[in-house]
Amino acid sequence: MKVLITGRLPAEVQALIEREHEIEINPHDRPLDRERLIEGIKNKDGLLCMITDEIDRELINETRHLKMIANYGVGFNNIDIAAAGQKGIMVSNTPGVLTETTADLAFTLILATGRRIIEGDKKTRSGQFQFWAPQHFLGREITGKVLGIVGFGRIGKAVAKRAAGFDMKVIYHTRTRPEESNKGIPNADFTAFETLLKESDFVSIHVPLLRETRHLIGKKELLMMKPTAYLINTARGPVVNETALYEALKNGQIAGAGLDVYEKEPEFVPGLADLDNVILLPHVGSATVETRAKMARMAAENLLAGLKGEIPPNCLNCDDLYVNR
Ligand code: NAP
Repeated sequence: MKVLITGRLPAEVQALIEREHEIEINPHDRPLDRERLIEGIKNKDGLLCMITDEIDRELINETRHLKMIANYGVGFNNIDIAAAGQKGIMVSNTPGVLTETTADLAFTLILATGRRIIEGDKKTRSGQFQFWAPQHFLGREITGKVLGIVGFGRIGKAVAKRAAGFDMKVIYHTRTRPEESNKGIPNADFTAFETLLKESDFVSIHVPLLRETRHLIGKKELLMMKPTAYLINTARGPVVNETALYEALKNGQIAGAGLDVYEKEPEFVPGLADLDNVILLPHVGSATVETRAKMARMAAENLLAGLKGEIPPNCLNCDDLYVNR
């Protein structure tokens, strides 16, 4: 069968797919443009795509015999699952293998915002560390503080586990039934969303991007946060209203923010980069050699299973497809 792979994969994973199928691969470490993506997908049976590829209804309708879309990422807001399902196309993602890595990054941002790590590094390099003084570069305690986790799934829980090592009090809000959602994480308590915003010293976002979570954090929610609190977003950019966040950071309404994701990546609100109280990372939540290799293998295994006519291990819509048949 014919397969389109829209980004570079480790050689052994590429070989795994090539053993069974004819592949066309984007060899560059940059996303395919829209025309090339549409052109490339037309005559393919399988697609292994990146989270930067917008696999919408228009594009899906251009496909003639596509059977399987394997996303290289756990978030799948880049794919119109309903449109794929209507054409009988299976869709998969890569859950679990990037949980710890992304939780590490969220915790890095908690420590780095609270202790002003990037600001301190910049000032030291530029010769502004001239003497030690009792009031210089004061950050905020991490140990013993309240961490509010929004979205208590795989990554949210992994962040809570890290917080236990810092004696933090963890409160969380999630869609899932509260009595079951903190199983195995005894240091975390379910709380209402508004209470979480009002009580947390750090608010860390771990919900998927859905219609209901778009702008979950906007002007009103930022106003509820403590002026000494920090917002951490390693989930998806559009979950936070970036313009409202910029205003809140500029006006000192909250103490700071640590961001890995943006509303219109790779761009972000003008002026954000001029603020000292925000850390800006280039969407690197899962970016370690080990984790990216695991994600590539998982995406490839899903793709290969789907093309064999089997249900891929991480199928997102197979229950619906099965019911509809
Ligand atoms: P997950 O296990 O599905 O967890 C998501 C959690 O959010 C679930 O507990 C879900 O509840 C909850 N949720 C959904 N809608 C909500 C709402 N409106 N209010 C409160 N909670 C809500 O997913 P995960 O593996 O932890 O990944 C989370 C997200 O992180 C991904 O979707 C992805 O976008 C992002 N991510 C980013 C990076 C990066 O590079 N920065 C890397 C990996 C993942 P239910 O269980 O009831 O649905």
